[in-house]
Amino acid sequence: MIRTDDLAQQRLLVAQACRVAASRGLVDGTLGHISLRIDERHLLIRCRSDSDTGLACTGADDVRLVCFDGTAGAAGELDGYQVPNEFPIHAETMLSNPRHRAVAHLHPPAVVAVDLAGITIRPIYGAFDIPGAWHARAGVPVYQRSVLIRNTQLGREMVAAMAGRSLLICRGHGIVSAAGTVQQAVLQGISLDRIARMSLRVVSAGGTLREIDEQDWADLPDLRPSLTVDAAWRNELARITQRPPTDYVR
Ligand SMILES: [Zn+2]
Repeated sequence: MIRTDDLAQQRLLVAQACRVAASRGLVDGTLGHISLRIDERHLLIRCRSDSDTGLACTGADDVRLVCFDGTAGAAGELDGYQVPNEFPIHAETMLSNPRHRAVAHLHPPAVVAVDLAGITIRPIYGAFDIPGAWHARAGVPVYQRSVLIRNTQLGREMVAAMAGRSLLICRGHGIVSAAGTVQQAVLQGISLDRIARMSLRVVSAGGTLREIDEQDWADLPDLRPSLTVDAAWRNELARITQRPPTDYVR
């Protein structure tokens, strides 16, 4: 049995994540969606309504409970709402790996551009963004097709390209970021966008992309989640609500 109170909190979390992604320029307009697995049969996903005003304006009501076959997860859940065309991105990513409880499908222009420019994401920096550097070191695979991933077959093909990683670039399209939490999925997307932007910036300045020294990895520790996730997410929420810190000095 799904508790209604918990669901309300989780709807709000997914809605906030959509607004964070929009505020970071990772999505534009009404394209892109974020989901969270609830149990064996259900997930919450950002859906579209006829009065949809875009990802940046996502409210908790836009996040609907659905089954893994894309049908309503409870009575009335899809009344006035449609699951995204690319729902199979979410369903297949979650079904392929139980650790993937949250999935963000976003369209960050810098990441699309870096791939189209033939630039591979590499660890060109370290302490500038440690989690991002580690993702770059592991490598970010590319799904070579630029199609709308609107059926199970394409969803599975995309998951195969992901090869067990948590980040994927879809050529001429966008990204998929999968994680244990919604916060982590979006923060990974922000990190990928950050390193893509820096790569483009270096190349635009006439520079050459060089990986950091191998010996530096020993001093790029995996910092506490309280810093890399909790504090980072607080910052993201403060940015979208424009709420000044309580101890702000005027
Ligand atoms: Zn898409």
